[in-house]
Amino acid sequence: MNGETSYFLPHDGLQDLIDALGHAGFVCIGPKARDGAIVYEQLDRASELPWGMRDYQSPGQYRLEVTDEKKAFAFSNGAQAIKPVLFRPRETVWKVVRNEEGKLEFKPHQPKEAPLAILGARACDLAAMAVQDKVFLHGKNIDPRYQARRENLFVVAVNCSYSSQNCFCVSAGTGPNVKSAGVCGAAGARQYDILMTEIDGGFAVECGSARGREIMVEMSLEEARSAQCSQAVQNVEHAAAMQVKRIPLDNGYGLRDLLFSNLDHPRWDEVADRCLSCGNCTQVCPTCFCHSESDRQNLDGSCSEHTREWDSCFTAGHSYLNGKIIRDDTRKRYRQWLTHKVGSWFDQFDVSGCVGCGRCISWCPVGIDLTQELAAISGESNEREKT
Ligand code: SF4
Ligand code: SF4
Repeated sequence: MNGETSYFLPHDGLQDLIDALGHAGFVCIGPKARDGAIVYEQLDRASELPWGMRDYQSPGQYRLEVTDEKKAFAFSNGAQAIKPVLFRPRETVWKVVRNEEGKLEFKPHQPKEAPLAILGARACDLAAMAVQDKVFLHGKNIDPRYQARRENLFVVAVNCSYSSQNCFCVSAGTGPNVKSAGVCGAAGARQYDILMTEIDGGFAVECGSARGREIMVEMSLEEARSAQCSQAVQNVEHAAAMQVKRIPLDNGYGLRDLLFSNLDHPRWDEVADRCLSCGNCTQVCPTCFCHSESDRQNLDGSCSEHTREWDSCFTAGHSYLNGKIIRDDTRKRYRQWLTHKVGSWFDQFDVSGCVGCGRCISWCPVGIDLTQELAAISGESNEREKT
């Protein structure tokens, strides 16, 4: 079995994959349909996958429908995938305990956690993980909790065979093929252990690492036929061809220059009239990493917990500095979000902060579409020409 050969995993072999991951010591996280959306959570049974479910997304809209396709990955994405698995929405980072002599002891908090396997990571999710790696692993300060989860993470990537109306990974340079090279810089660091593409009756499967190979050997798969390999290629090409949206200026450094030379563009006032400053876009964005920290003490003074929690540049507290809220209106907050996401992110990380997943568009309650805002400022269309 080598990394280039494709094998065929029938749909009824998915449980064998979940079991093989379990035997190797991983807790499997995968997609399920819950509360009208695709969510990623612990997955023990292949029957829990969202069989035949398809997401319909447009600005401010997300809904699931059951199709008659017998597919486990007929959808494009849900509100979250990998980010909360590695960068938890809320977690304790250290504790202070008063010892028997009455002195304070500072203790790092790093609970022992079972290694995780994510089943169904998309190309944009892996591009976003590569961006978050730059934040939490490749800077001066490494986050030990993220690092431990990331080092143990087993990735079963699944190529998309369907794009929603809000997906624009082709123009963002991140997908829909997990293996495609991109222009935004994030695509170079794709890491997966197993890569699957859904086809009639199952999946064309490739391994991407030694431990991926071990899992595949345990499943004793047969080589995929050439017709199955061709169908896998066609299905991913279909997902690319159906994208209707694009991000202007190729999601590149030109966006940074455009935005910083248009800080007083009238479009910022126009979008501020619609934006609710709710922060949904930042919560669903797979690359946003801002967080706040707070302490919670026991009333008897015996212990205190220092907690980290996801924050948003749309909150007042995010720009509180020296007794003043610097970004004191929605115009400044939206401008901060966009100029950071696709502008100063390049200066910080040498990559765009946008991987083209479209989540911020779908989950914005008033349907603000960043590609449209960038089109209005750049004068370049956000509609993709049909290939
Ligand atoms: S900015 Fe929007 S489209 Fe881009 S990665 Fe974040 S959520 Fe996805
Ligand atoms: S752009 Fe939309 S999701 Fe983001 S803060 Fe404004 S209203 Fe909320």
